[in-house]
Amino acid sequence: MPKDKHAYDYIVIGSGTAGSVVAARLSEDPTISVLLIEAGPHDRKVEIKMPAGYPALQKTKRDWQLWTEPQTELMDRKLYLPRGKVLGGTGALNGMIYIRGNRLDYDDWAAAGNLGWGYQDVLPYFTKTECNSRLGAPYHGTMGEQPVVDARFVHPMNRAFIEAGQQSGLRFNEDFNGEQQDGVGYYQATILKGERMHTARVLLHPALNRKNLTLWLETTARQLTMVKNRVTGVIVERGKELQTVHANREVILCGGAIHSPYLLLHSGIGPADDLQRLAIPVQQDLAGVGQHMQDHQQYFLGYFSDTRISLNTALGPRNLWNWFVHRSGIFAEIVSGAGGFIRTNAHQDRPQIQFHFVPGIAGDNIHDLKAQPKRDGFMLGLTLLKPQSQGYLKLRSGNPNDAPLLQPNFLTAAEDLKILLDAYETGWDIMHQSALTPYRHQLTKPNNQLSLRSDREQFIRQTLESVYHTVGTCKMGPANDTQAVVDADLRVHGIDCLRIADASVMPDIPAGNVNAPIVMIAEKAAQLILGNMG
Ligand SMILES: Cc1cc2nc3c(=O)[nH]c(=O)nc-3n(C[C@H](O)[C@H](O)[C@H](O)COP(=O)(O)OP(=O)(O)OC[C@H]3O[C@@H](n4cnc5c(N)ncnc54)[C@H](O)[C@@H]3O)c2cc1C
Repeated sequence: MPKDKHAYDYIVIGSGTAGSVVAARLSEDPTISVLLIEAGPHDRKVEIKMPAGYPALQKTKRDWQLWTEPQTELMDRKLYLPRGKVLGGTGALNGMIYIRGNRLDYDDWAAAGNLGWGYQDVLPYFTKTECNSRLGAPYHGTMGEQPVVDARFVHPMNRAFIEAGQQSGLRFNEDFNGEQQDGVGYYQATILKGERMHTARVLLHPALNRKNLTLWLETTARQLTMVKNRVTGVIVERGKELQTVHANREVILCGGAIHSPYLLLHSGIGPADDLQRLAIPVQQDLAGVGQHMQDHQQYFLGYFSDTRISLNTALGPRNLWNWFVHRSGIFAEIVSGAGGFIRTNAHQDRPQIQFHFVPGIAGDNIHDLKAQPKRDGFMLGLTLLKPQSQGYLKLRSGNPNDAPLLQPNFLTAAEDLKILLDAYETGWDIMHQSALTPYRHQLTKPNNQLSLRSDREQFIRQTLESVYHTVGTCKMGPANDTQAVVDADLRVHGIDCLRIADASVMPDIPAGNVNAPIVMIAEKAAQLILGNMG
């Protein structure tokens, strides 16, 4: 229990995908006190609960509403990056696809000097949280808190896509997180009975009745407090007031890949030159803070369809009734319920492209819900899984109200564009198989058939978007790696009593959606912290 009302054993900053897990697990021990701080409001919103409702949360007060710098390789476009500013964080407004990446991703982490992070090491942390409705050991958990389920309503277009993939020569894969990642199949999702099951919902909400767990919503951590190289607590803004909270043991940063490095920089932990330029007193010169930014990117191939069954025309009384009354139908499922993984050449040791098939068609401005076509359609996202391009995040000023400068440097590595171009052929082939013929009426992404590689390149540069999987900005690595920010126990190098547990610590982006890997990181973090008590 707190020794006084402003001291807690552990302070967890950020209640997102990772922070909800960390706070819930730490507070399982009734002898320790935990304060969880979240900048955003509660998650009681119908758009959060309804699986297909999340696009409506973008550009609202529950989204940090971030933009990248102009991307030179993408015709100087600035890209929009939604990030949850709400209980549950980005996990409260994500697509709920449950994918872990490739086992080699984690073996690479371990080979880079991160003892305890190889595939066999991390598998138990994946399965710990998981409650899979169909799949079991050795790859899946069935006793965890987070439901991972198959769709109850399989959209006919999703079924047609899977068939088209097989017609195109790809194998059907019934478990992308099992023995083999390659092939086409249906995604499992973190949903139960037609409602989103983010980590705040399944782990944090039930833990909030514990006396040793305190949650402060609409409270923003502004700066870590330090005595020499020991973090002692955090200055928070609550209402209009600043107040200092003391951590008896540790502060755990779970602000996500953008806001964790952002808070470190404002606290004087980061590249010394940058900090001095902004007149921020340097507490610890750590070159890697904000660097090494990685993200997945995708472009879409798409058709208009004359059938009245896609997401574009779904908003009507029947589908709303189905969800509000029965928690069923198209709104009870994820937006991209089918997809797959392919290699673009036989020498690749793991898939380099992921498919996100959508039974709906987006307009040119994918983030403006009101601007989406009123005509039906479908589209296939081709996602680059292992980008070589790396970017960075910096502070624009010492003012904590200024948004960070985000430079992901998309497509600055030539290999990235090559893989995206190489995949075009396969995507196009799938889209034109007979299984999709009943739905294919007018080509819209791109507007014309592009046979020249240079035209396809132009199309990719014009339309590529982030998949919102930003990671790696406080990467894990040994002390002799000058870019590493945390060690294999997730402790910040050179600083005592401070760990990071979220997307930012990934040494390299996994080949797949990143939410499940972040849950895994959070589970392992909690175990590392509790294992170190005493
Ligand atoms: C639209 C969209 C769709 C996605 N779809 C999928 C998907 O289908 N499958 C998948 O695997 N991944 C998906 N992702 C990615 C995934 O959801 C995120 O990578 C993941 O949620 C990030 O988890 P995190 O814990 O690192 O950070 P977050 O979940 O972003 O949590 C960070 C939390 O910290 C809070 N915070 C930040 N700074 C402070 C501060 N100073 N003080 C207090 N609080 C603070 C934030 O408000 C936030 O709540 C998607 C992302 C988006 C945006």
